[in-house]
Amino acid sequence: MSSPRRPLVGGNWKMHLTVVETTAYLARFVPALESDGPEVVLFPGFTLLPAARELGPDGSVAIGGQDLHPEPRGAHTGDVSGPQLVDVGCSWVLCGHSERRHDHGESDDLVAAKVAAATAHGLTPMICVGETADERAADRTLEVLDRQLRAAVGAAVGAGVDRYALAYEPVWAIGTGLTATPQIAQDAHRFLRRLLAEVAGETRAESCRILYGGSVNPGNAADLISQPDLDGFLVGGASLDPEKFLTIIRACGS
Ligand code: PEP
Repeated sequence: MSSPRRPLVGGNWKMHLTVVETTAYLARFVPALESDGPEVVLFPGFTLLPAARELGPDGSVAIGGQDLHPEPRGAHTGDVSGPQLVDVGCSWVLCGHSERRHDHGESDDLVAAKVAAATAHGLTPMICVGETADERAADRTLEVLDRQLRAAVGAAVGAGVDRYALAYEPVWAIGTGLTATPQIAQDAHRFLRRLLAEVAGETRAESCRILYGGSVNPGNAADLISQPDLDGFLVGGASLDPEKFLTIIRACGS
């Protein structure tokens, strides 16, 4: 039986590209997308969002912020709020990306507050969870996923919202060229889906897209996506090249 979930692919540009490069990228990327393909969302840097908003006539690509502050406004130098993201056309936002958790010391409580803020402003959070190499080596992967999911999804459930996606991103695979094997990814995704059933209910668990992220590239995407609980990818490095990103998107089918 094929999955009831439409594939979803995100491109996390991190702190890359300029406005001129964004425009050139989109001019190649958008016309090559197939209308019956996966849902696609780009996460450009904040300064690129207005340029990325001009995506083309058909709105075939959504855009999202890479982070948001839990407060809607205030004295928070360098931060961006949910209403500001909505103002420049975002419909998604990343919450709890490991580079935020580790570079900026974001705790599970802060990630939960960001998820609640995102949903309050009508943004769909893409909630990122994943274990470090040390946690995997210490056999603590499931414990970490359990803790991160309960905190972040609990915030959405508490707000009465079922609009979110999950991204399983083992930290040891992000930007390292090391990819989880399809079996490692499937085991983690299966675990997350079972946990979702407990936290958010069986129906939501079956409908929620769980993406894999961590050194996905055109050579490994097809094998990974063949796993039943993988519903797409969150792609960092390879999403900076429109041709590579398109190949990954096509591997996800429709
Ligand atoms: C990411 O930043 O979410 C990511 C998965 O990066 P990469 O694809 O470069 O490992």
